[in-house]
Amino acid sequence: MARAYNFNAGPAAIPLEVLQQAQEQFVDYHGAGMSIMEMSHRSALYEDVNNEAQSLMRELFGIPNNYKVMFLQGGASTQFAMLPMNLLREGQPAAYVHTGAWADKAIKEAKLIGETVIAASTADDKFMRVPSLSEIVVPANASYLHLTSNETIGGTQFQEFPDTGNIPLIADMSSDILSRPVDVSKFGVIYAGAQKNLGPSGVTVVIMREDLAQGSPKSIPAMFRYETHAKAKSLYNTPPSFSVYMVSLVLKWIKAKGGVAQMEQYNRDKTKLIYDAIDGSGGFYKGCADAKSRSVMNITFRLGSEELENQFVKESEQQGFVGLKGHRDVGGLRASTYNAVPLESCQALAQFMKDFQQRNG
Ligand SMILES: *Cc1c(COP(=O)(O)O)cnc(C)c1O
Repeated sequence: MARAYNFNAGPAAIPLEVLQQAQEQFVDYHGAGMSIMEMSHRSALYEDVNNEAQSLMRELFGIPNNYKVMFLQGGASTQFAMLPMNLLREGQPAAYVHTGAWADKAIKEAKLIGETVIAASTADDKFMRVPSLSEIVVPANASYLHLTSNETIGGTQFQEFPDTGNIPLIADMSSDILSRPVDVSKFGVIYAGAQKNLGPSGVTVVIMREDLAQGSPKSIPAMFRYETHAKAKSLYNTPPSFSVYMVSLVLKWIKAKGGVAQMEQYNRDKTKLIYDAIDGSGGFYKGCADAKSRSVMNITFRLGSEELENQFVKESEQQGFVGLKGHRDVGGLRASTYNAVPLESCQALAQFMKDFQQRNG
């Protein structure tokens, strides 16, 4: 079987070992005579999966005890709405750092719920950088500050996070969660759709400080209240059980690889191969993001013409590469190098880039 060199942005690569393990357990999960998808979410076997996924998440990400770990549905996009519904208070604006396409979507949803302010924006630089911490201005009465730790489409990433004191810091980490160690205690909420770095689509991880998960306004329907899910250990209604199970396997895989600090080193090694190919090309390839803001997860770059970019995509596909076309909103090329993308794929891509340049440079 030939596995593709998968650089998809999301849904994205899942470790081969995880897929094989799921395949082994697919028809008969732990001798139950049925698959995990066919059993009650109230069964002991599924409760173990749910508990294990939560505790591995805590262990690997160093989540303090006063935080809840929830597995919700509706993707990160639903969090764009749920967060202001639950946490945006009257007379206390929600502050947002505007760094690109995903931040923009989060801001638009919050505006439907209440007052918002832009704490910093890099629109003037076409979102090709993240702001420095000193550029971020948060009103003293803000309900929270929201930022996007990694802009999946533009290819920028925060390397450090602001200290917001008593104001909860909220981060959309959909495209870089568990790619590097993070001091979770600096955050009120961290959330991520699973389909980039954690497994398949269908489940969203929400890590929330306990005090924030309490006291959701009573006017919000049950499914949209964090309180509901926190109290029920993410078993209020039928959970996306197969997706949670897959996340638990991915977490075990990360643990076996040595944990999140190891992942970071591995990711930096992978990314360096491709950024070096860009920087060493004498201008044939041009990186999109400012050097200091470059993402370790999504590498965006361009060629001299759109025609040449199309040719790059076409030839890459012929050689077994998938997902290198940039997002339709920004064009160009993009390689997503999430945790599960093997070093070998990045070596192959760097080599392909050099060969392509030689043929066309
Ligand atoms: C993919 C992505 C989202 C959207 O996730 P869905 O699960 O499709 O709603 C939000 N934020 C970021 C940073 C993303 O990369």
